[in-house]
Amino acid sequence: MGILDTSREEMIQLLRERGITDEQVLRSMNTVPRERFIPEPFDKRAYEDSALPIGRGQTISQPYTVAFMTQALQAPAGGKVLEIGTGSGYQAAVLAEMGFRVFSIEREPELLSFARRKIDSLGYRIATKGGDGTVGWSEYAPYSAIVVTAGAPGIPDPLLDQLEDGGRLVIPVGNLDVQTIMICTRRGDSHETEEVVGFKFVPLIGKKGWK
Ligand code: SAM
Repeated sequence: MGILDTSREEMIQLLRERGITDEQVLRSMNTVPRERFIPEPFDKRAYEDSALPIGRGQTISQPYTVAFMTQALQAPAGGKVLEIGTGSGYQAAVLAEMGFRVFSIEREPELLSFARRKIDSLGYRIATKGGDGTVGWSEYAPYSAIVVTAGAPGIPDPLLDQLEDGGRLVIPVGNLDVQTIMICTRRGDSHETEEVVGFKFVPLIGKKGWK
């Protein structure tokens, strides 16, 4: 097990027990070294199923949440995926490892530069930018899928607008204490929504987010 309190294989086993069935997601999470995205001393706990501090009052999401949201995206092979909330860079790396073309936005410059260093040192090709992700990244739209990794007060319209037809937006929506993960599939000018309850995220702050 080395210096890690729980091993990567144990994490994958736990994700299977909690109902993650997408083998591509499990394979990717079994490949990306989560400990490299977590500052000391919390890196030792990288394969526990918990969110951990990454600085600036933010967290790397819990492995189950990453797996659940990634599985919910159902993006086609090689599709373009936009992530809002790069944080540590781990979720973006999991998506890149699955072969998607990944674009990711983070509002905290310090976190973005930490993530950029990790992404580059592991050799992933991911486009990142600093700024408010609630307005999306129109330059590269449309996307096959968009994942928002912070809790929003509502669904930002620009994100729905930047999805291709049939594309999916996976976003936690709720109050500042508890959120529901909304899975929105774009159908022409409207969208279908499915809801999954009981997740907890840090707030999405921005023009179309919390002030
Ligand atoms: N995906 C991240 C990972 O793998 O480590 C988890 C990130 S954390 C749960 C959510 C991130 O969203 C934080 O880093 C926070 O700064 C960022 N965030 C909040 N509001 C944002 C916004 N409007 N645009 C971009 N990033 C935002």
